[in-house]
Amino acid sequence: RKEREEAERSLPAETRDGHRVEVAANVNRPDQVAAAIASGAEGVGLMRTEFLFLERDDSPDEAEQLATYQGMLQALEGRPLIVRTLDIGGDKQVPYLNLPHEENPFLGMRGARLLLRRRDLLEPQLRALYRAARGGQPLSIMFPMITSLKEITRLKGLCEGIRRELDAPVVPIGIMVEVPAAATLADKLAEHVDFFSIGTNDLTQYALAIDRQHPELAAEADSLHPAVLRLIHQTVQGAALHGRWVGVCGGIAGDPFGAALLTGLGVNELSMSPRDVASVKARLRGSDFAKLAALAQQALDCDSAEEVRALQSLLS
Ligand code: PEP
Ligand code: MG
Repeated sequence: RKEREEAERSLPAETRDGHRVEVAANVNRPDQVAAAIASGAEGVGLMRTEFLFLERDDSPDEAEQLATYQGMLQALEGRPLIVRTLDIGGDKQVPYLNLPHEENPFLGMRGARLLLRRRDLLEPQLRALYRAARGGQPLSIMFPMITSLKEITRLKGLCEGIRRELDAPVVPIGIMVEVPAAATLADKLAEHVDFFSIGTNDLTQYALAIDRQHPELAAEADSLHPAVLRLIHQTVQGAALHGRWVGVCGGIAGDPFGAALLTGLGVNELSMSPRDVASVKARLRGSDFAKLAALAQQALDCDSAEEVRALQSLLS
């Protein structure tokens, strides 16, 4: 099996009955791109830009960010790059930003909520991204922790202002679907964005009300819980109404069985740690989409994550 994975990792993730899924990698730094491509990734589906801000004493300025985004694009040699704007707050803290202490940081000022209040963080980042886009390589912008249409409208307005000022090209703008509110409103939100990427790590945490880092409970925060799968299903259906594509960039995308179920639910792109790319591709290439779609329907009808996981025995 390992040898087949090696040989097949540069082939597309196309099921035996011809259904193609895009397989991308979660990569944060230009020097990690080559290895991700070598492992079979077709692009970068999630660049977490928090990492530009961590382990230092001040924010990276526009020029420094531009150099990093250009470095990513250059290393990708024409493959797509999705950059997620800063998702600080929750479990990711940055001391020099002097953000107020919160009792419940996962329910507080994080992601888009923070960006909309801290233009000093958002604007240099958007400017760097639009300047990088002027190079003509495929770049998309993605906003984290979206809960409402109002946030999307405001963020898109800021993007458009900066784009015009820089005379930069229009780039696809997408959102992370990682709050149940966004999943349940997907049919409404899809009209206003180019794509969705489901963050199953947070979506699971918020759907099951389990802190993703809880020492005792985190193990029960299984992204294959049927409640989470139903939210994913709803997101895919909402996106389809407006012809948008849907990715998943949370940890479950890199689990071969998870990837099979997500494919069966109609997810178009899976973005994962580079080390998981080969086994996910092999799993999908060995599957029939028709079977995965039927399996996904069964999973939606389960009453626990354990019951969903037991369906694994039905896959050859
Ligand atoms: C997620 O929430 O699933 C996700 C991909 O984002 P992060 O893990 O960075 O919160
Ligand atoms: Mg998240």
